[in-house]
Amino acid sequence: MQKYAVFGYPIAHSLSPRIHAAFGEQCAIPLAYEAIACHSEQFAETLAGFLSRGGAGANVTLPLKQRALAVAWQSSARALRAGAANTLTARNGQWLADNTDGAGLVADLTLRHRVELRGRRTLVFGAGGAARGILGPLLDAGVGPVTIINRSEPAALELAERFSVQHAALEQLPTLGKFDLLIQASSHGHQLDTALPWPEQIADASAIAYDLSYGKAALPLLRWASEVECRGFDGLGMLIEQAAEAFEIWHAVRPDTRAIWGELRAL
Ligand code: NDP
Repeated sequence: MQKYAVFGYPIAHSLSPRIHAAFGEQCAIPLAYEAIACHSEQFAETLAGFLSRGGAGANVTLPLKQRALAVAWQSSARALRAGAANTLTARNGQWLADNTDGAGLVADLTLRHRVELRGRRTLVFGAGGAARGILGPLLDAGVGPVTIINRSEPAALELAERFSVQHAALEQLPTLGKFDLLIQASSHGHQLDTALPWPEQIADASAIAYDLSYGKAALPLLRWASEVECRGFDGLGMLIEQAAEAFEIWHAVRPDTRAIWGELRAL
């Protein structure tokens, strides 16, 4: 049976094993998919051990996405553009890196939620591994102009330069006018059950607010969207779609995501 795993820390509550098991069953592909807790310092060694035990593919999450790109022998154009990888495929004893996060977000927004992205004035809040992964595919889907804001300004500046978009300091946010698409790509909700530092005047009811996280961590964004009376989504659909994209890379078949979406949404 082919072996797959998701690496990260914390990882115990990852939904990826369940999602890939469901895809495997649906497509009649026998596979084993486990979650492996791993800190940055042990990543290269742990991943090498997994490869030597017959590991065929790996997903990589926080805080390992930039390291995943560094350990790969070859990388896709979208992983190189992001400077981060979330999907590794074993080939001849080496790893090939890809990044399916952005494709997952765009598929969730456009196919599931029927959002037209072209020309949307966009705020990306956060400048970590996830923001790196989504910016290229969002720009390719036609969003713009884009402004990046991050808690630490240098990271926002670096990312804005990488993708040739604007950046601003958090304190400037109330002065930037209205956005049509607001992407919460930071870990704010994982640490604080407090309101997002977003004033209400940066959007109106026609806006779309999207949090890459899901579960409790997405609640501050969903509350904010309900106060502004705009549509708000969490990142569960993105998680499922990025997994479908990884599954297709590994197994050359695209799973139907509707059943697992319904199952996980109901949790
Ligand atoms: P990283 O650790 O790489 O980056 C974290 C980012 O969040 C940084 O920009 C950091 O800012 C910022 N941040 C951390 N704490 C706070 C805070 N209290 N207030 C404001 N900003 C904060 O994480 P990732 O980019 O990989 O992940 C970000 C989020 O996206 C997570 O919630 C993750 O679960 C989610 N995600 C969801 C996916 C999905 O498929 N749905 C896929 C990938 C990620 P600073 O630079 O100042 O430290």
